[in-house]
Amino acid sequence: MTDARFLVVGQGLAGTVLVDALLEQGESVHIADQHVTGAASKATAGIWNPLTARTLQESWRFSEFMPLALRYYENKCAERNIKPPRALPLLKVLPNEHSLEHWNRTAETHGSSCKKSNGLPPSTFRNQLHMGPFYGWVKGAGHLQVAEFIEAARLDYINHGIFQDTRFESAGVEWAKHGGLKWNGKTYEYLILARGHQERKDHCFGWLPFKPAQGELLMGSIADLQIPFIVYSGGFLLPMGGHRYLLGATYEWDELSPTPTEKGLQQLMRIKDGITPLNLQIEETWAGIRPTVADRRPLIGAHPANKNLYIFNGLGTKGVSMAPALAQMLVDHLLRGTSLMPEIDIRRFLGRYRRSTIHT
Ligand SMILES: Cc1cc2nc3c(=O)[nH]c(=O)nc-3n(C[C@H](O)[C@H](O)[C@H](O)COP(=O)(O)OP(=O)(O)OC[C@H]3O[C@@H](n4cnc5c(N)ncnc54)[C@H](O)[C@@H]3O)c2cc1C
Repeated sequence: MTDARFLVVGQGLAGTVLVDALLEQGESVHIADQHVTGAASKATAGIWNPLTARTLQESWRFSEFMPLALRYYENKCAERNIKPPRALPLLKVLPNEHSLEHWNRTAETHGSSCKKSNGLPPSTFRNQLHMGPFYGWVKGAGHLQVAEFIEAARLDYINHGIFQDTRFESAGVEWAKHGGLKWNGKTYEYLILARGHQERKDHCFGWLPFKPAQGELLMGSIADLQIPFIVYSGGFLLPMGGHRYLLGATYEWDELSPTPTEKGLQQLMRIKDGITPLNLQIEETWAGIRPTVADRRPLIGAHPANKNLYIFNGLGTKGVSMAPALAQMLVDHLLRGTSLMPEIDIRRFLGRYRRSTIHT
């Protein structure tokens, strides 16, 4: 008899949605997390956007994943008595006529969750936003207060006696000969690691091709601006109520600072200058590290040499829209033996694993 069937390590967005999905199935779960500076979910903007910023194409499986995600967030926010996710239109400023043509072409091919139109922004914003003649509206975008969502879940887990505020080290795990494990004095059948970008530092799954991207954001107020939509132009400006805005986000692959940097602040101010000529009063800046992957797909599945050790990671830049559907897939796999999609299954990197074992 184990203390709980599952031990999940890491209570970012990934660990939270996974624990909720396991509990929903009546499974016994413990979750361990000790705050690590730079965790993505504490820094995230929490936007869901049907389109990828670079190509203006629909994000991978967005229209399949997002309805499930919204249902889950709405239910949990109501249950835990916190602000629900909010749908928001997104104004995409386009650089030139060529991108407008591209925009119009792709608008025709997308499904209802990301219909686009070229409706004019209210003329009152014309002096407040830097806008040329080319732009489009993205429907089906929105915002979740992720840090609040995770904190409410943490309190819930504490109340249910399943949360451990403890640092996890894989060296502290004793694996039983015939399956299962012991950690921190308790026994489990499965260990699922959801440690975000930190995972790359550990031998268990460090052989996977993580390509983490640091990012910075700031909260501030713009006295003369009150817009009810997200603006996207080289970065985003997200209305947070009244005259307060979230501005982001930077991308940095070389220097993975878990705290804000001068370089990041300068980039943020350049994003702000590209969006609005108005003054912004900075209230707070912060940074985090995205668990992005070389092939831009999630990292999910069992360790090649240990069927009781799993990873749930690689949510990259789209954790909000992807996490609930992916958690459901992993739970179906664990409880009902369904196969994981090849695009998310870490078995696609078996060659890397084999090479890593030869070199150690
Ligand atoms: C600046 C920025 C902006 C972003 N904006 C968006 C956005 O607008 N929309 C969107 O969808 N996504 C966005 N993302 C991406 C999104 O935040 C991530 O996809 C998601 O948060 C990843 O969650 P995670 O749980 O995998 O990782 P993390 O959030 O990093 O969680 C890992 C957890 O593991 C814990 N942990 C790590 N090591 C240990 C250990 N040894 N022992 C115990 N606990 C440990 C940490 O404390 C942490 O709580 C953004 C990310 C950043 C950085």
